[in-house]
Amino acid sequence: MYMDVIPTRGIDRDHDSLERFVFEEAPIHGRIVHLDATWRAVLERRAYPEPVRELLGEFMAAAALLTAMLKFDGRLILQVQSNGPVRLLVVECSSERAMRALAQWHGEITPMPFAQLLGHGRLVITIDPQQGKERYQGVVELEGDSVAQVLEGYFKRSEQLDTRIWLASDTERAAGMILQKLPDRESEDTDAWDRAAHLGSTLTREELLMLPAKDILHRLYHEDDIRLFQRVPVSFRCTCTRTGVERALHIMGETEVRSILTEKGKVDIDCEFCGTHYELDMVEIEQLFAVGHTTETGSTRH
Ligand SMILES: [Zn+2]
Repeated sequence: MYMDVIPTRGIDRDHDSLERFVFEEAPIHGRIVHLDATWRAVLERRAYPEPVRELLGEFMAAAALLTAMLKFDGRLILQVQSNGPVRLLVVECSSERAMRALAQWHGEITPMPFAQLLGHGRLVITIDPQQGKERYQGVVELEGDSVAQVLEGYFKRSEQLDTRIWLASDTERAAGMILQKLPDRESEDTDAWDRAAHLGSTLTREELLMLPAKDILHRLYHEDDIRLFQRVPVSFRCTCTRTGVERALHIMGETEVRSILTEKGKVDIDCEFCGTHYELDMVEIEQLFAVGHTTETGSTRH
């Protein structure tokens, strides 16, 4: 087993980073992501039962990989809604690779297969672009035995691209690797894709979680000519704002908000992603619903 040696100034291991690689002699490219502090920032905010935690970690690594593969400016949101024990799962990743995530569940969660955890559910992939561009939304049925299989199916159906994905998470880190066949490129080596995908399957969970990208690629593809690009950082950042909270209260409606105010003398809201507490007193609520008051829209400032 690979031993995790304490790295000197974090040089040896890839912390919170996304790395792109290409096969020089075959039409194949991919990404490897490692989330450390980013993932722990999610876990610090809520105690998840182990099966939920594993699932959320895999979705988080997957969101980072998808953000890198589907080029856009804005936010990518993966949202699972299901009638299974894990009711809701949301992961967001911006094109600057700032991430946040949460899951909601009910009842006691014991280890159980993927299909049972999520029941009859669906995954909604949303790309919320920066102003002026159209919002994209794709719905994926949760068919398969893993997060990776569901997303491989998505790429096959919606993008007609052969894709393989490997994901893993534990209490310290979440990691993933995606491999994709590039379209419209002639290659003399027709077996290259099958071989690369097969070798990818020999990667163990430990290796994916613990090894730096360059070692993963060497371990799998030392016979191929692989170019690894410079790593880019990934971080945890919540996009909640006071303006966003005010907008949500507006949507909730004046009657509802006023009834909370009457009962409690103030309105308390906690951000479910980061735990930030927002409190609005009577004067602020009055201002919020004063005639002519409008809240800013489209703001993602922190
Ligand atoms: Zn927040």
